[in-house]
Amino acid sequence: MVEVPFGHGNSLRRAVISAEENETEFKDLKRIAKVLISQPVYLPDQIELAKEMKRRYFCSIGQALKTISPPTVFTIGKKSARACSLTDRDIAEDMLCDNLLTSLQQQRVVEMLLQVETASVQEITQACQVTPSVLKTLERKGVLKFFTKNIDREFKQPEIWPEAEVEHLNQDQEKAVQGILDLATMNETTDVDFQQSKKISKLKEALLFGVTGSGKTEVYLRVAEQMLEYGKTVIILVPEISLTPLMISRFTKKFGEKIAVLHSRLTATQRFEQWQSILSQDKQIVVGARSAIFAPLKNIGLIIIDEEQESSYRSESTPRYNAHEIARIRAIQQNALLLLGSATPAVETFFRTQIGKSVRFELPHRAKPASLPKVHLCQMKNEFARDDFDGVFSRQLIQNLRVTFADGGQAMLFLNRRGLTSTLQCKICGFVVKCDNCEVPMTRHLNRHYKHKERLICHYCGKIIPVITTCPLCGSAKMESSGLGTQRVEQAFAKLFPEYKALRMDFDTTIGTDAHQKILSQFGRKEADCLIGTQMIAKGHDFPNVRTVGILSVDSMLNTGNFKSEERAFQLITQAAGRSGRSDIQGDVFIQGYNLINHVIKSASAQDYIEFYNSEMEFRMRAKFIPFGNIGLALFQGLNELIVNSEADFMYEYLNNIIQSNRDFFSNTMIYSPAPAPIPRLRKKYRYRLIVKSDNILKIAQLFTLESRRKMVKGVNRSLDINPEHML
Ligand code: ADP
Ligand code: ZN
Ligand code: ZN
Repeated sequence: MVEVPFGHGNSLRRAVISAEENETEFKDLKRIAKVLISQPVYLPDQIELAKEMKRRYFCSIGQALKTISPPTVFTIGKKSARACSLTDRDIAEDMLCDNLLTSLQQQRVVEMLLQVETASVQEITQACQVTPSVLKTLERKGVLKFFTKNIDREFKQPEIWPEAEVEHLNQDQEKAVQGILDLATMNETTDVDFQQSKKISKLKEALLFGVTGSGKTEVYLRVAEQMLEYGKTVIILVPEISLTPLMISRFTKKFGEKIAVLHSRLTATQRFEQWQSILSQDKQIVVGARSAIFAPLKNIGLIIIDEEQESSYRSESTPRYNAHEIARIRAIQQNALLLLGSATPAVETFFRTQIGKSVRFELPHRAKPASLPKVHLCQMKNEFARDDFDGVFSRQLIQNLRVTFADGGQAMLFLNRRGLTSTLQCKICGFVVKCDNCEVPMTRHLNRHYKHKERLICHYCGKIIPVITTCPLCGSAKMESSGLGTQRVEQAFAKLFPEYKALRMDFDTTIGTDAHQKILSQFGRKEADCLIGTQMIAKGHDFPNVRTVGILSVDSMLNTGNFKSEERAFQLITQAAGRSGRSDIQGDVFIQGYNLINHVIKSASAQDYIEFYNSEMEFRMRAKFIPFGNIGLALFQGLNELIVNSEADFMYEYLNNIIQSNRDFFSNTMIYSPAPAPIPRLRKKYRYRLIVKSDNILKIAQLFTLESRRKMVKGVNRSLDINPEHML
């Protein structure tokens, strides 16, 4: 890594030497100003990878290299860091109670600082998911102050959960391990010149399709262990570190010093040290979230992506890469095996096993002697006749919970919305309270710091306003709210079961570094009877004592306007159901909703992936969605609607001309006129979107590469994405 003079002003820029040549066609060469790091900072494969990324994600090689190894991994972070603390705790508490903080972001920061006293800027911005500007605003308001603090250089070892060792694999696991190892070691060339065979190796891909609790992790562990024996290295991706403590714990327990764990909450120094130890090949296994796919390991034999259907494997910032695609490139480069694991694979992943691009291994049974739970559908329309109906719990679920709790069992209740209710609407004229900044309804929340006060929060921009009691349009006082949120369920639970304790886990209760872990271990130690939460509690935790699972307001998971909402709902219901009955007692799952006649609910309650897969594929084929077609999505955002619209129009004209004048090449490629996005305004910015469809992903990539070179008018932001996770 060097510094070179660049452009007319000779300003110094960081650069990487990727090759050496003795001759050149250029005449005026400048000298390298300074060698920053003389050891190689990238492996040759990573340079190749960057070139692929440029082609696929229409970014520059520089952007790709920065994504592969962020600058922070090359410098020993400073030993001190900027940190914050509250100026006055009492005043801060008062501000929380009196709704004097005007955004959720500010509130989260204050809540975190009340808990932890002091924290570095990096810790706060990550734990609260805010930008540093929020901290500056709070400083201006006199709420907090900055200072410099020494930072922890110690790498905190991940927590090891007490668990019994698995002694013998069952037959299905044995078969999977053997099959996977056979694949992984296929085409091992010992005598051929490796340099030559490298380029032509074919992708080796497999899917471990195992129901929840079938013991997939044990298969990963055995296969990884064997790969190390062969002298190979292994990368394991998990959706999100804080939500998968069990997986980390199992790998750490087995591999100890050989393992490097990469995640976003490392301090700069920790990240540097982990990275350097991988780069110098001191580690043989890397476990981490999405970006760990770039880990500078040599001699990779196996790449595992657990819960492969998770959307967190896609990056939401430029370059918008997909860890699956990067994994495929790396697997080809190194002749490694890509192993995807899931109980509910993305349909396009399963499809690959049907057309022979991937080999499927199945674990159709739970590893421990427990059958899959029994699923009950609860039609909530029927509950309204009950005098004691609280709008939340069906009679069936209440009865089952009573039995479970009396027996000393635990329960989990899922729903996909936090807060009290989803919308506030005037009963007379239909006016819906929406956010000033965004074209979306605001959600009613309890103020946790002042129990009886409520307020409205925008889930998109975080704006907080007091609850509106009279309609601003017609003046009526009949403002009514609808839709269930986690706080509402918590309230109803406390009323129904005053003698039992519930914990709530959602975005609002998981502020701070270890908040997730704390709630999960509390529940794991049986300090509470019930865990109420959003999606995040559906992920791979193993609580053997959970017998009842409730999935509340299932309707709100469907028809969200996103073409993947049905698939997401199926995955969520299956995962949630998989949380129950993990011991020798059969569990029960209750699905509550109003519209239960839906193919997703039908196949999810039968726990029938294949049935779901078939109906979903039919829909995708008709709509030409992945895997039958590709969608390119361009999103333009800016404060001035006219300019945003005209930039989108410009792109349409530009690309449409190219397509029309190269009809042969761009066959089966369509561009649609731009239109306001489904969420037409967000954080004060207007949003227009434009869609391109094609049978070939590279055709869209080519069009988007051209568009990405077109300069935008100031004040408009353009993002380009292929087969995105969200279309909103
Ligand atoms: P999955 O990841 O497929 O949902 P896990 O790997 O979490 O499932 O395994 C579920 C449980 O089964 C764990 O408690 C694990 O220790 C146990 N288990 C796995 N394999 C075996 C086995 N062969 N014999 C007994 N228990 C097993
Ligand atoms: Zn009204
Ligand atoms: Zn908003």
